Amino acid sequence: MSIQCTISSLIIIINIVYLFILFALTSHWILVFHPLRFLTSIFGQIYIVFYHVLFFMLIYSYWQSIVTPPGYPSKNWYPEGKSKEELDEIVDNIMEQRKNSNNHFKPPSHIRYCVTCNIFKPPRTHHCRHCKKCILKQDHHCPWIANCVGYQNQKPFLLFLFYTTVVGTISTVFLVFSAFYVLNVSIQNAEDPTPVTINNNNNNNKDIILSTSEEQQQHQDLEFLVSGPMVTVLYILNFSTIIPVLLGVSGLFYFQSGFIFSNLTSVERYERKSEYKIAKRNGVGEEYRWRYDRGPRNNFKDVFGDTFRQWICPVGSPRGDGINWKLNNQQQQQSEQLV
Ligand SMILES: [Zn+2]
Ligand SMILES: [Zn+2]
Repeated sequence: MSIQCTISSLIIIINIVYLFILFALTSHWILVFHPLRFLTSIFGQIYIVFYHVLFFMLIYSYWQSIVTPPGYPSKNWYPEGKSKEELDEIVDNIMEQRKNSNNHFKPPSHIRYCVTCNIFKPPRTHHCRHCKKCILKQDHHCPWIANCVGYQNQKPFLLFLFYTTVVGTISTVFLVFSAFYVLNVSIQNAEDPTPVTINNNNNNNKDIILSTSEEQQQHQDLEFLVSGPMVTVLYILNFSTIIPVLLGVSGLFYFQSGFIFSNLTSVERYERKSEYKIAKRNGVGEEYRWRYDRGPRNNFKDVFGDTFRQWICPVGSPRGDGINWKLNNQQQQQSEQLV
Protein backbone atom coordinates (compact mmCIF):
# COMPACT_ATOMS: atom_id res chain seq x y z
CA MET A 1 0.00 0.00 0.00
CA SER A 2 1.43 3.39 -1.02
CA ILE A 3 1.86 6.25 1.49
CA GLN A 4 -0.81 8.34 -0.29
CA CYS A 5 -3.22 5.40 -0.14
CA THR A 6 -2.50 4.90 3.58
CA ILE A 7 -3.02 8.62 4.30
CA SER A 8 -6.29 8.78 2.33
CA SER A 9 -7.65 5.62 4.05
CA LEU A 10 -6.61 7.09 7.41
CA ILE A 11 -8.46 10.34 6.64
CA ILE A 12 -11.59 8.38 5.62
CA ILE A 13 -11.49 6.23 8.79
CA ILE A 14 -10.87 9.23 11.09
CA ASN A 15 -13.74 11.09 9.42
CA ILE A 16 -16.09 8.10 9.87
CA VAL A 17 -15.19 7.81 13.57
CA TYR A 18 -15.51 11.56 14.19
CA LEU A 19 -18.82 11.70 12.29
CA PHE A 20 -20.09 8.85 14.46
CA ILE A 21 -18.93 10.69 17.60
CA LEU A 22 -20.62 13.92 16.41
CA PHE A 23 -23.83 12.03 15.61
CA ALA A 24 -23.87 10.32 19.03
CA LEU A 25 -23.25 13.63 20.82
CA THR A 26 -25.91 15.58 18.88
CA SER A 27 -28.45 12.77 19.31
CA HIS A 28 -27.83 12.75 23.05
CA TRP A 29 -28.75 16.44 23.23
CA ILE A 30 -31.93 15.87 21.19
CA LEU A 31 -33.05 12.60 22.80
CA VAL A 32 -31.78 12.87 26.39
CA PHE A 33 -30.69 16.31 27.60
CA HIS A 34 -33.57 18.29 26.08
CA PRO A 35 -36.68 16.07 26.65
CA LEU A 36 -35.57 15.08 30.16
CA ARG A 37 -34.94 18.78 31.01
CA PHE A 38 -31.36 18.17 32.17
CA LEU A 39 -30.41 21.81 31.68
CA THR A 40 -32.76 22.92 34.45
CA SER A 41 -31.82 20.38 37.16
CA ILE A 42 -28.63 20.10 39.26
CA PHE A 43 -28.31 16.36 38.53
CA GLY A 44 -28.78 17.06 34.82
CA GLN A 45 -26.16 19.80 34.75
CA ILE A 46 -23.60 17.62 36.59
CA TYR A 47 -24.35 14.77 34.19
CA ILE A 48 -23.92 17.04 31.13
CA VAL A 49 -20.47 18.22 32.36
CA PHE A 50 -19.40 14.64 33.27
CA TYR A 51 -20.62 13.31 29.91
CA HIS A 52 -18.72 15.94 27.92
CA VAL A 53 -15.49 15.44 29.93
CA LEU A 54 -15.68 11.69 29.17
CA PHE A 55 -16.39 12.45 25.52
CA PHE A 56 -13.39 14.77 25.35
CA MET A 57 -11.15 12.06 26.90
CA LEU A 58 -12.47 9.55 24.35
CA ILE A 59 -11.58 11.83 21.41
CA TYR A 60 -8.22 12.79 22.96
CA SER A 61 -7.28 9.11 23.55
CA TYR A 62 -8.32 8.22 20.00
CA TRP A 63 -6.17 11.02 18.61
CA GLN A 64 -3.19 10.06 20.79
CA SER A 65 -3.38 6.41 19.69
CA ILE A 66 -3.18 7.61 16.06
CA VAL A 67 -0.34 10.13 16.40
CA THR A 68 1.82 8.25 18.96
CA PRO A 69 4.29 5.96 17.13
CA PRO A 70 4.09 2.39 18.48
CA GLY A 71 7.90 2.27 18.83
CA TYR A 72 10.50 1.09 16.32
CA PRO A 73 13.75 -0.80 17.01
CA SER A 74 17.09 0.80 16.22
CA LYS A 75 19.11 -0.48 13.25
CA ASN A 76 22.12 -0.50 15.57
CA TRP A 77 20.67 -3.00 18.01
CA TYR A 78 22.42 -6.40 18.14
CA PRO A 79 21.65 -9.48 20.25
CA GLU A 80 24.02 -10.11 23.15
CA GLY A 81 26.43 -13.04 23.39
CA LYS A 82 27.58 -13.15 19.76
CA SER A 83 30.50 -11.44 18.01
CA LYS A 84 30.02 -9.26 14.91
CA GLU A 85 31.45 -12.03 12.70
CA GLU A 86 29.12 -14.67 14.18
CA LEU A 87 26.10 -12.41 13.65
CA ASP A 88 27.17 -11.66 10.03
CA GLU A 89 27.40 -15.40 9.41
CA ILE A 90 23.91 -15.96 10.83
CA VAL A 91 22.50 -13.20 8.59
CA ASP A 92 24.24 -14.71 5.53
CA ASN A 93 22.73 -18.10 6.36
CA ILE A 94 19.24 -16.61 6.81
CA MET A 95 19.51 -14.79 3.46
CA GLU A 96 20.78 -17.93 1.75
CA GLN A 97 17.89 -19.89 3.25
CA ARG A 98 15.40 -17.49 1.64
CA LYS A 99 16.91 -18.11 -1.79
CA ASN A 100 17.43 -21.85 -1.37
CA SER A 101 14.58 -23.85 0.17
CA ASN A 102 16.90 -26.86 0.72
CA ASN A 103 18.90 -24.85 3.23
CA HIS A 104 17.45 -25.80 6.61
CA PHE A 105 19.46 -23.36 8.69
CA LYS A 106 18.00 -22.66 12.14
CA PRO A 107 19.36 -19.58 13.96
CA PRO A 108 19.70 -19.69 17.79
CA SER A 109 16.27 -19.17 19.37
CA HIS A 110 17.15 -15.78 20.93
CA ILE A 111 18.38 -14.36 17.62
CA ARG A 112 15.62 -13.04 15.38
CA TYR A 113 16.27 -11.20 12.15
CA CYS A 114 13.84 -9.25 9.94
CA VAL A 115 14.68 -9.89 6.31
CA THR A 116 12.42 -7.01 5.17
CA CYS A 117 13.90 -4.29 7.41
CA ASN A 118 17.34 -5.97 7.49
CA ILE A 119 17.69 -5.55 11.24
CA PHE A 120 17.94 -7.80 14.28
CA LYS A 121 14.64 -7.92 16.14
CA PRO A 122 14.74 -7.25 19.91
CA PRO A 123 12.54 -9.49 22.10
CA ARG A 124 8.76 -8.99 21.60
CA THR A 125 9.35 -7.14 18.30
CA HIS A 126 7.43 -8.21 15.20
CA HIS A 127 7.25 -6.99 11.64
CA CYS A 128 4.00 -5.38 10.48
CA ARG A 129 3.20 -5.82 6.81
CA HIS A 130 0.80 -2.85 6.87
CA CYS A 131 3.26 -0.41 8.46
CA LYS A 132 6.17 -2.10 6.61
CA LYS A 133 8.24 -1.74 9.76
CA CYS A 134 9.29 -3.73 12.79
CA ILE A 135 7.26 -2.74 15.87
CA LEU A 136 8.40 -2.94 19.50
CA LYS A 137 6.08 -5.14 21.60
CA GLN A 138 3.68 -5.37 18.67
CA ASP A 139 0.14 -6.27 19.72
CA HIS A 140 -1.78 -5.93 16.46
CA HIS A 141 -2.32 -3.59 13.53
CA CYS A 142 -5.56 -1.65 14.05
CA PRO A 143 -7.21 -0.30 10.85
CA TRP A 144 -9.37 2.09 12.94
CA ILE A 145 -6.29 4.04 13.95
CA ALA A 146 -4.30 3.13 10.80
CA ASN A 147 -1.46 2.32 13.16
CA CYS A 148 0.06 -0.58 15.00
CA VAL A 149 -0.68 -0.97 18.69
CA GLY A 150 2.70 -1.42 20.29
CA TYR A 151 5.01 -0.51 23.13
CA GLN A 152 4.45 3.28 23.10
CA ASN A 153 0.78 3.70 22.13
CA GLN A 154 -0.74 0.78 24.03
CA LYS A 155 -1.96 3.08 26.83
CA PRO A 156 -3.80 5.64 24.61
CA PHE A 157 -5.35 2.76 22.67
CA LEU A 158 -6.57 1.03 25.86
CA LEU A 159 -7.91 4.34 27.20
CA PHE A 160 -9.73 4.91 23.90
CA LEU A 161 -11.42 1.52 24.34
CA PHE A 162 -12.12 2.29 28.02
CA TYR A 163 -13.71 5.70 27.44
CA THR A 164 -15.72 4.38 24.47
CA THR A 165 -17.05 1.55 26.66
CA VAL A 166 -17.97 3.94 29.50
CA VAL A 167 -19.56 6.59 27.24
CA GLY A 168 -21.34 3.90 25.20
CA THR A 169 -22.77 2.24 28.34
CA ILE A 170 -23.94 5.54 29.87
CA SER A 171 -25.44 6.65 26.54
CA THR A 172 -27.31 3.37 26.12
CA VAL A 173 -28.71 3.47 29.68
CA PHE A 174 -29.97 7.06 29.31
CA LEU A 175 -31.30 6.42 25.80
CA VAL A 176 -33.32 3.46 27.11
CA PHE A 177 -34.56 5.60 30.01
CA SER A 178 -35.45 8.48 27.67
CA ALA A 179 -37.20 6.13 25.19
CA PHE A 180 -39.37 4.66 27.99
CA TYR A 181 -40.12 8.11 29.36
CA VAL A 182 -41.11 9.46 25.93
CA LEU A 183 -43.23 6.38 25.21
CA ASN A 184 -44.93 6.60 28.60
CA VAL A 185 -45.76 10.32 28.26
CA SER A 186 -46.97 9.78 24.66
CA ILE A 187 -49.36 7.04 25.82
CA GLN A 188 -50.62 9.21 28.69
CA ASN A 189 -51.17 12.17 26.37
CA ALA A 190 -52.99 9.98 23.85
CA GLU A 191 -55.30 8.56 26.54
CA ASP A 192 -55.93 11.90 28.25
CA PRO A 193 -55.86 14.73 25.67
CA THR A 194 -55.73 18.33 26.92
CA PRO A 195 -59.12 20.16 26.86
CA VAL A 196 -59.00 22.71 24.11
CA THR A 197 -62.12 24.78 24.77
CA ILE A 198 -62.66 26.92 27.84
CA ASN A 199 -65.99 28.48 28.74
CA ASN A 200 -65.12 32.04 29.77
CA ASN A 201 -68.60 32.65 31.21
CA ASN A 202 -68.26 29.84 33.72
CA ASN A 203 -67.94 30.90 37.36
CA ASN A 204 -65.10 28.44 37.94
CA ASN A 205 -63.17 29.96 35.07
CA LYS A 206 -59.96 30.44 37.13
CA ASP A 207 -59.77 26.76 38.20
CA ILE A 208 -60.25 25.49 34.65
CA ILE A 209 -57.50 27.76 33.31
CA LEU A 210 -55.09 26.52 36.00
CA SER A 211 -55.86 22.87 35.32
CA THR A 212 -55.44 23.40 31.56
CA SER A 213 -52.16 25.17 32.07
CA GLU A 214 -50.80 22.25 34.21
CA GLU A 215 -51.76 19.72 31.57
CA GLN A 216 -50.24 21.86 28.82
CA GLN A 217 -47.05 21.92 30.88
CA GLN A 218 -47.14 18.08 31.01
CA HIS A 219 -47.59 17.97 27.24
CA GLN A 220 -44.56 20.19 26.76
CA ASP A 221 -42.41 17.38 28.22
CA LEU A 222 -42.38 15.82 24.78
CA GLU A 223 -41.24 18.92 22.98
CA PHE A 224 -38.24 18.01 20.84
CA LEU A 225 -35.68 20.04 18.93
CA VAL A 226 -36.66 18.11 15.79
CA SER A 227 -39.91 16.82 14.29
CA GLY A 228 -41.78 13.74 15.65
CA PRO A 229 -40.87 11.27 12.84
CA MET A 230 -37.24 12.42 13.02
CA VAL A 231 -37.20 11.54 16.75
CA THR A 232 -38.24 7.94 15.98
CA VAL A 233 -35.60 7.69 13.23
CA LEU A 234 -32.96 9.05 15.63
CA TYR A 235 -33.87 6.50 18.32
CA ILE A 236 -33.63 3.64 15.78
CA LEU A 237 -30.32 4.94 14.35
CA ASN A 238 -28.85 5.43 17.83
CA PHE A 239 -29.74 1.98 19.12
CA SER A 240 -28.69 0.26 15.88
CA THR A 241 -25.26 1.95 15.87
CA ILE A 242 -24.38 2.33 19.55
CA ILE A 243 -25.21 -1.24 20.60
CA PRO A 244 -23.01 -3.05 17.98
CA VAL A 245 -20.17 -0.54 18.57
CA LEU A 246 -20.50 -0.97 22.34
CA LEU A 247 -20.49 -4.77 22.13
CA GLY A 248 -17.47 -4.81 19.78
CA VAL A 249 -15.41 -2.23 21.67
CA SER A 250 -16.20 -3.55 25.16
CA GLY A 251 -15.29 -7.09 24.02
CA LEU A 252 -11.96 -5.83 22.68
CA PHE A 253 -11.42 -3.82 25.87
CA TYR A 254 -12.03 -6.95 27.96
CA PHE A 255 -9.41 -8.97 26.03
CA GLN A 256 -6.88 -6.14 25.85
CA SER A 257 -7.18 -5.46 29.60
CA GLY A 258 -6.48 -9.15 30.24
CA PHE A 259 -3.29 -8.84 28.17
CA ILE A 260 -2.19 -5.74 30.10
CA PHE A 261 -2.63 -7.46 33.48
CA SER A 262 -0.71 -10.56 32.27
CA ASN A 263 1.97 -8.58 30.35
CA LEU A 264 1.05 -10.39 27.16
CA THR A 265 0.30 -9.33 23.57
CA SER A 266 -2.14 -10.70 20.99
CA VAL A 267 0.85 -12.16 19.11
CA GLU A 268 2.38 -13.78 22.20
CA ARG A 269 -0.75 -15.56 23.41
CA TYR A 270 -0.08 -18.42 20.94
CA GLU A 271 3.47 -18.70 22.24
CA ARG A 272 2.20 -18.80 25.83
CA LYS A 273 -0.41 -21.40 24.90
CA SER A 274 2.16 -23.75 23.36
CA GLU A 275 4.58 -23.21 26.29
CA TYR A 276 1.77 -24.02 28.73
CA LYS A 277 0.91 -27.21 26.79
CA ILE A 278 4.54 -28.35 26.99
CA ALA A 279 4.67 -27.53 30.72
CA LYS A 280 1.44 -29.47 31.24
CA ARG A 281 2.81 -32.44 29.36
CA ASN A 282 5.88 -32.35 31.62
CA GLY A 283 3.65 -32.28 34.70
CA VAL A 284 4.51 -28.67 35.68
CA GLY A 285 1.46 -26.94 34.14
CA GLU A 286 0.34 -25.60 37.53
CA GLU A 287 3.65 -23.83 38.05
CA TYR A 288 3.82 -22.37 34.56
CA ARG A 289 3.91 -18.57 34.36
CA TRP A 290 4.36 -16.38 31.27
CA ARG A 291 7.96 -15.14 31.33
CA TYR A 292 7.13 -11.38 31.43
CA ASP A 293 4.25 -11.73 33.91
CA ARG A 294 5.47 -10.03 37.10
CA GLY A 295 2.05 -9.77 38.77
CA PRO A 296 -1.03 -7.75 37.71
CA ARG A 297 0.02 -4.61 39.64
CA ASN A 298 3.51 -4.43 38.10
CA ASN A 299 2.24 -5.36 34.64
CA PHE A 300 -0.39 -2.61 34.76
CA LYS A 301 2.04 0.03 36.03
CA ASP A 302 4.58 -0.88 33.32
CA VAL A 303 2.10 0.41 30.71
CA PHE A 304 -0.04 2.95 32.58
CA GLY A 305 2.41 4.53 35.04
CA ASP A 306 2.40 4.92 38.82
CA THR A 307 -0.23 7.56 39.64
CA PHE A 308 -3.99 7.80 39.09
CA ARG A 309 -3.48 10.93 36.96
CA GLN A 310 -1.20 8.94 34.64
CA TRP A 311 -3.72 6.09 34.47
CA ILE A 312 -6.52 8.24 33.11
CA CYS A 313 -4.48 10.47 30.73
CA PRO A 314 -3.51 9.12 27.31
CA VAL A 315 -0.04 10.72 27.44
CA GLY A 316 3.33 9.79 28.96
CA SER A 317 5.84 7.07 28.21
CA PRO A 318 5.62 3.48 29.44
CA ARG A 319 8.33 2.04 31.69
CA GLY A 320 11.55 0.73 30.16
CA ASP A 321 12.94 1.08 26.65
CA GLY A 322 10.80 -1.45 24.75
CA ILE A 323 13.90 -3.58 24.10
CA ASN A 324 15.06 -4.96 27.45
CA TRP A 325 12.26 -6.68 29.36
CA LYS A 326 12.26 -7.72 33.00
CA LEU A 327 11.47 -11.39 33.57
CA ASN A 328 9.49 -12.79 36.49
CA ASN A 329 11.34 -14.49 39.38
CA GLN A 330 10.64 -17.99 38.01
CA GLN A 331 12.19 -17.19 34.61
CA GLN A 332 15.01 -15.24 36.24
CA GLN A 333 15.98 -18.28 38.34
CA GLN A 334 15.80 -20.58 35.30
CA SER A 335 18.07 -18.33 33.23
CA GLU A 336 20.51 -17.98 36.14
CA GLN A 337 20.64 -21.81 36.45
CA LEU A 338 21.40 -22.08 32.71
CA VAL A 339 24.30 -19.59 33.08
ZN1 LIG B 1 10.72 -5.62 9.90
ZN1 LIG C 1 1.11 -1.94 11.59
